[in-house]
Amino acid sequence: MKISVLGSGSTGNSVLLVANGTRVLVDAGLSARETARRMSMLGEDPNSLDGILITHEHGDHAGGLRVLMKDLDCPVFMSAKTRDAYVGERRNVTSDEPRRRSDALRDRMVEIDSGHDFRIGDIDFHPFTVPHDAADNFGFTATHDGVKVATLMDFGHITTLITERLRGCAAIVIESNHSRDMLKTVEHYPWELKQRILSRLGHLSNEDIAEWLLDGFDGQAQHIVLAHLSQRANNPYLAKITAESALQERSPLFAGDTEIRLSFPKEATAWIEV
Ligand SMILES: [Zn+2]
Ligand SMILES: [Zn+2]
Repeated sequence: MKISVLGSGSTGNSVLLVANGTRVLVDAGLSARETARRMSMLGEDPNSLDGILITHEHGDHAGGLRVLMKDLDCPVFMSAKTRDAYVGERRNVTSDEPRRRSDALRDRMVEIDSGHDFRIGDIDFHPFTVPHDAADNFGFTATHDGVKVATLMDFGHITTLITERLRGCAAIVIESNHSRDMLKTVEHYPWELKQRILSRLGHLSNEDIAEWLLDGFDGQAQHIVLAHLSQRANNPYLAKITAESALQERSPLFAGDTEIRLSFPKEATAWIEV
């Protein structure tokens, strides 16, 4: 199986999973054009996608979906609650976007829920609930030929369920949104926004990742890709060093050879093969 984070950050998120000829996009937060461009640069034809999974309705995860669906004919997998929130009329917005979204999803949507695994081509998907202020946010593990990978973003804290689901993964794409100290001192954010990000339904911090790496991580993943880094309240090198330091602090008994990688808002990562 191979993975590329096509783009990640508050401006748009999308992850491409490929196994044995099956190609699946997790989230469509980049524009349709950028999604196609970045897939092509990796040598993948967007028209060959077998499915698109949507984790939750926020614009940085689903904002490119409607236009992307016009160009492609693959099904879209999302929960009923996420669909309703995605399509739903927003206050103070008088546009026909809700109707367009609803039309685009007609006959194309496959309903999923956090209690039921499903399969797309040669990849098995196992959705699970993650705590975020969206209608019904999911993380996913995906398995093919005995190899398991995970992708999860936009969650405020690591639950017991998340720790369990991440065990045995060979590669993990996980949010490392902000440095708590940097977030507190960012000038441009109103207090309410800072509270939202820091809350248990907000976004995961570098420090949260470090705690998980010390106490919850099973040491099995060869690759951990840090995702959804804030451009104002984080620094890529700080995020990477915080995670690497935590790995080094682990007891030698649990030392592994996990590599920490970064993902980027404006370019896709190289393929990560497991
Ligand atoms: Zn997000
Ligand atoms: Zn979100």
